[in-house]
Amino acid sequence: MSILVLGGAGYVGSHAVYQLIDQGSEVVVIDNLQTGHRDAVHHKAHFYEGDIRSREFMRSVFEKENIEAILHFAANSLVGESMIEPLKYFDNNVYGTQVVLEMMKEFNVKHIVFSSTAAVYGEQKVVPIKEEAATLPTNTYGETKLTMEKMISWCEKAFDLRYVSLRYFNVASARSDGQIGEDHNPETHLIPVVLEAALGKRPAVTVFGQDYDTADGTCVRDYIHVEDLIDAHLLALAYLQSGGESNVFNLGSSQGFSVKEIIETAKEVTGIDIPVQFGERRSGDPSTLIASSEKARSVLGWNPSRTSIHQIISDAWNWHQHHPNGYER
Ligand code: UDP
Repeated sequence: MSILVLGGAGYVGSHAVYQLIDQGSEVVVIDNLQTGHRDAVHHKAHFYEGDIRSREFMRSVFEKENIEAILHFAANSLVGESMIEPLKYFDNNVYGTQVVLEMMKEFNVKHIVFSSTAAVYGEQKVVPIKEEAATLPTNTYGETKLTMEKMISWCEKAFDLRYVSLRYFNVASARSDGQIGEDHNPETHLIPVVLEAALGKRPAVTVFGQDYDTADGTCVRDYIHVEDLIDAHLLALAYLQSGGESNVFNLGSSQGFSVKEIIETAKEVTGIDIPVQFGERRSGDPSTLIASSEKARSVLGWNPSRTSIHQIISDAWNWHQHHPNGYER
């Protein structure tokens, strides 16, 4: 029996594949390589290049492989882009998930661990944010992820599947052995952008807005090491396989850092005086997102171990220094 990783060539998905293989699982990967990288896929995984929106393609993989559970990472995930191209997000994210659920029904696959986001919460008055908080997305990306969660939960009621939805706060860093890391084109996430500026690959980091209602006026986010994040997925899978009921968990470090603090820490880690400029707010950005991850700790037994922002940035820096052009040789 195999675990199917949708989006297993992408940043978060590729780390999941490595950690599943580390624990001895058989892994099947589906990815359309729109944003993922063939070289990010572990050589032991069975790789199928194709689109989750294609029923014919998906059926061919489910017929060939013996799938016992799904980890679903295949989605577009950029807040800024989602505000400019909303329909791209509804098509790939929402419709793509519809096809995934159809396949689960057709092939009797009962368990799915779903990659969701803190963007489902939007702007919240009570911080750290708990899972019971109202879901009020401020951007299309968050809206599509919330819709995907709802689709899965309605299907759970209709046909006996169980799911865990993991709402990520800001995932960052790279596998600590340096084998794989983050490579988006174009890169828009704060930590890799700052490190690209440190490498001289871009002239400066632009801070998007410094008039937010936060201590230093820049947005505050909760950064989580990608390896800790994947540990929670493996625990979620084990939880479902041992009969756990469908559930939703936040994944963050419960600590917030402002954009300015991230840049200052990156200066310390790299020893480089990274050039900074100030720009307008980015559309759709809430001012503060900090998780309460107590529920994941108590129910799943999750115990993140790479929580220091120094370590998060230095593992990312290790990857960027050794792969200045990402997966491109
Ligand atoms: N950010 C920034 N400059 C950049 C990229 C990001 O100031 O070049 C800010 C962004 O506005 C947000 C925070 O950094 O407040 C984290 O953004 P990112 O895109 O990494 O993650 P998101 O919170 O959107 O998931």
